[in-house]
Amino acid sequence: MFRKILIANRGEVALRVIRACKEMGIRTVAVYSEADANSLHVKFADEDVCIGPAPSSESYLNIPRIMSAAEITDADAIHPGYGFLAENADFAELCSSCKIKFIGPAPQVIARMGDKAEAKKTMREAGVPCVSGSLDIVTDVAEARKIAAEIGYPIIIKAVAGGGGRGMRIAHTPIALSTAFVTAQAEAEKSFGNPGVYIEKYIEDPKHIEIQVLGDEHGNVIHLGERDCSIQRRHQKLIEECPCSSLDESSRANLGEIAVRAASAVGYTNAGTIEFLFDRRSGGFYFMEMNTRIQVEHPVTEVVTLVDIVKQQILIAAGEPLQMKQSDIRFVGHGIECRINAENPYQNFRPSPGKIVTYHAPGGNGVRVDSHCYEEYVIPPYYDSMLAKLITRASTRDECIRRMERALGEFIIEGISTTIPFHLEVMRSEEFKHGTFGTGFVDTFWK
Ligand code: ADP
Ligand code: ADP
Ligand code: MG
Repeated sequence: MFRKILIANRGEVALRVIRACKEMGIRTVAVYSEADANSLHVKFADEDVCIGPAPSSESYLNIPRIMSAAEITDADAIHPGYGFLAENADFAELCSSCKIKFIGPAPQVIARMGDKAEAKKTMREAGVPCVSGSLDIVTDVAEARKIAAEIGYPIIIKAVAGGGGRGMRIAHTPIALSTAFVTAQAEAEKSFGNPGVYIEKYIEDPKHIEIQVLGDEHGNVIHLGERDCSIQRRHQKLIEECPCSSLDESSRANLGEIAVRAASAVGYTNAGTIEFLFDRRSGGFYFMEMNTRIQVEHPVTEVVTLVDIVKQQILIAAGEPLQMKQSDIRFVGHGIECRINAENPYQNFRPSPGKIVTYHAPGGNGVRVDSHCYEEYVIPPYYDSMLAKLITRASTRDECIRRMERALGEFIIEGISTTIPFHLEVMRSEEFKHGTFGTGFVDTFWK
C-alpha cells in the first residue's frame, strides 16, 4: 500500500481524497496556488507545497511544479481528482516514468477515451450502441452538411477534446450548420487547443444516464449502477441521483452489462464513468462518452451502494484485486446530490465570487456535505464555482426529496449568491417529483 499520496487538485475533491487517505492510514500532501493558501485542503493535509500563482496554468495545470512537489515530499502516488490534469495522458505517462503511481487508468486508455470521436469508434467496434453521427473528425462544412443530411437535423457539433459541457453547438438547418460548424471549430481550438470536432444526431430532451464502473489491474470489471444526471444547465450537471426512477431492473442490468463490456474492451482499470443518452421517445440507450476519472457526483452512488469509490481507486492503483463481485453489489434506498455553486440563479447563473460572511451547513440523518467552505472564506475567481455538494440519502425517492428540501432550508451561506434557491424550487416541483424530466428541464422550468 502507498505510504504517501499527493493530491494534484484543490477544493472539495482534494478534501474528499484526503479524508479517504486518513481513514486508510496514508499520509497526504496538498499542493496549492497562492490564491488557495487559506484553503481547507491545505489545513487538513499532513504536508503542503505551494506550487505557484493563482492562474491554473501556473499552478494546478503546471506539470513540472507538481512533479517537483511529489519528488520533494517523496510521495509514492498522485491522485488527480477531477478537472485539471485528471484526464491528461501525458501527465499519467510522466508519473509512470518517474515511478510515481498515477491513481487512474493507463495513459493509453486515457488518451483513447479522451478523444471523444476515437472513443465512439472504439465503443462501436465493441458492439456498444452509439449516438449516430460522423465516424471521425469532420474537417469542413461540405462534409458536415453531407453527414447532417444523412442522419437528419437537428445535429450537434462537439469538440473531440471537449469537457465540462463546453465546445458544443446545435444546428437545426443546413444554413445554421455552416455558421455553427466554423464557430465550434474556433471555440474548440481556443478552449482545448485542438480544433477537431465531430457530429452527432441531436436527441431532443433525452435523459443523461451514466454507469459507474470499477476495474482492477487483474482483469476484473464491475459496475455500481447508474446515475440520472439530466438536470443540467448549459450542458453542465446541477442535480444527480441514484437510482434513475425511470429505469426498470432489466434495463438497469442490461445497461450495466453494456458498460462492463465497454470497459473490458479497452482494458479499463480504476474508477470510470460511461455516459449514455436515453432517447425517451425510442427507448434506446446510446453511448456518449467515457470519463476516465472520479466524477463530481460519485457520492450518490456511494450512499446507495455503501462502496467508497475513492478508497477503491486507491486500492486498485496499489495493485489490490477487487474485493467484491458484481453479485455483492446491492442498491439500497435513494441518493440525490445538489451542486451548490457560487452563482446567481436569478441572473442566468452568473458567477458570484467573493467572501462568505455566514456559513452554516445542514446535518441530521441521511445528510452529507462535501465542501471546502467555511465562514470568512474568500472564493477565488480563478477556478470553478462549486462551493459544496449536498447529498441526501433515504429509503425512498420521495423521502430523499423531502430530506433534500429540509437540508437546503438549513444551508445558510451569506455574502455571495448561491444556487440554493434554485435547488429548493426544483425539489418542490411536481415535474421533478414525477421523475419524468429530461435534459431540457431547466430551460423550461427556470425561465
Ligand atoms: P462530472 O462529469 O464529473 O460531473 P463535469 O463534467 O461537471 O464533471 O466536470 C468536472 C470538472 O472538470 C469541472 O470542474 C469541469 O469544469 C472540469 N472539466 C471536465 N472536463 C474538462 C476539460 N476537458 N477541460 C477543462 N475542464 C474540464
Ligand atoms: P462533456 O464532455 O462536456 O461532459 P458530453 O458529451 O458528456 O460532454 O455532453 C454533455 C451534455 O450535453 C450531455 O449530458 C447532454 O445533455 C448534452 N448532449 C451531448 N450530446 C448530445 C446529443 N447528441 N444529443 C442531445 N444532447 C447531447
Ligand atoms: Mg460528459
